[in-house]
Amino acid sequence: MSHPSLEQIRSAGVVGAGGAGFPTHVKLAGKADAVLLNAAECEPLLHKDKEVLRHFTDQVLAGLAAAMRLVGAARGVVGVKEKYTDTIEHVRPRLGPGMEICPLRDSYPAGDEFILVYDVLGRVIPPGGIPLHVGAVVINVETAMNVAAADDGPVVDKFLTVAGAVADPVTLRVPIGVTLAQCVAAAGGPTVPDACYMVGGVMMGTLEDNHDARVTRTTGGIVVLGGDHVVIRRRRQEWKQIVRIGRSACDQCSFCTELCPRFLLGHPIEPHRAMRSLQFNLVGEANTAGTSFCCECNLCSLYSCPEDLDPKNVCTTNKRRIAAEGTRWKEPPFNPDRPGNLLAGRKIPMHALILKLGLGGFRNVGELSKRSVEARRVGIALKQHVGAACEPTVRPGDHVKRGQEVGRPPVTDGKPALGVPVHASIDGVVKAVEAGAIWIES
Ligand code: SF4
Ligand code: SF4
Repeated sequence: MSHPSLEQIRSAGVVGAGGAGFPTHVKLAGKADAVLLNAAECEPLLHKDKEVLRHFTDQVLAGLAAAMRLVGAARGVVGVKEKYTDTIEHVRPRLGPGMEICPLRDSYPAGDEFILVYDVLGRVIPPGGIPLHVGAVVINVETAMNVAAADDGPVVDKFLTVAGAVADPVTLRVPIGVTLAQCVAAAGGPTVPDACYMVGGVMMGTLEDNHDARVTRTTGGIVVLGGDHVVIRRRRQEWKQIVRIGRSACDQCSFCTELCPRFLLGHPIEPHRAMRSLQFNLVGEANTAGTSFCCECNLCSLYSCPEDLDPKNVCTTNKRRIAAEGTRWKEPPFNPDRPGNLLAGRKIPMHALILKLGLGGFRNVGELSKRSVEARRVGIALKQHVGAACEPTVRPGDHVKRGQEVGRPPVTDGKPALGVPVHASIDGVVKAVEAGAIWIES
């Protein structure tokens, strides 16, 4: 049984591996009555959490047990899609004391922390809050595995699914710092000539034009699509175009709001109002405070809107402007009774989302492969987490071993900044410290 301390979890560089990158030692320093293991992975075509849970069950559950011990929780719940019956049957007999499984519907965004906490515990996290505010801690499957291993060594590998227009959709375990293109090659390579990479998924991920960008501790998947695919065309739309079309074509039907998961939780976000506000000014800026509570799930833009408008971008642009101004809504209006009435009936089935996104022609598989990528040169990003970028602790010419610390968060007035150290993922020599990364060659 693994008993890592918070300090071991910090020094091992454990962060939210589901994409958030929040330092796990900070999260596990709180007190809660329940820890939720998030295996609800809901980005279309991605499978790495289910594969990690299936293939590393004992390590993942050891990490869940460690998290329960650290936060003082008597209850640990594995949230996993009900359709993965073989995984559920595999995990159930291995559960430890206080642990249970909560089968979840195959809907989007089932993996959103706020939705998961409501679906599993029936508790509504208030607007601007975190799970701890309702006595819960949520950790991703791979994060739990890394917690269990923290007293043994640091995080140097990453699991990710490569899917979409590739010859062999697959989940891989790769050293941190290899390129995205190497991972795509390990999945048989692209099957389209003008391959575009959606990193982190088609809904909440980012379109990465640099195919030599490096895998970090938060890279959960790469979905390859052709340049003419609707998801890529939508991502390439310019802000001016989004505003111009939004102003003229939004008929205020409110579907975007009626299906918005955060609105359905009772939060004060109404994307149709943000769209309406585009009409009222000349600079093309929405102006509604509720946009601060948008979780950027993209459902309104890529699924709900019958006109293919982009309320998500209107909300997030306004959200960032409000944040930059330092404006905070002290007591946002909140209707905690709303979800009981509406949420269950308005979940978006995954198969419907896949069809709407034009992903139905791709193989929706991603088994974990023993294959990896040859890592002769890696770039270890100094910022792979929420918080401050690390400062290098090595110099060009230094020899380093896999697992050795190569950067750590800065210290101001004797206090380390929020963050975790980063580590070499291969044995080799430091060739350069530049462009926000440590470059190591074997
Ligand atoms: S769903 Fe589309 S058309 Fe309807 S209110 Fe929202 S943005 Fe406007
Ligand atoms: S992206 Fe759209 S659907 Fe998702 S939370 Fe924001 S406004 Fe709601």
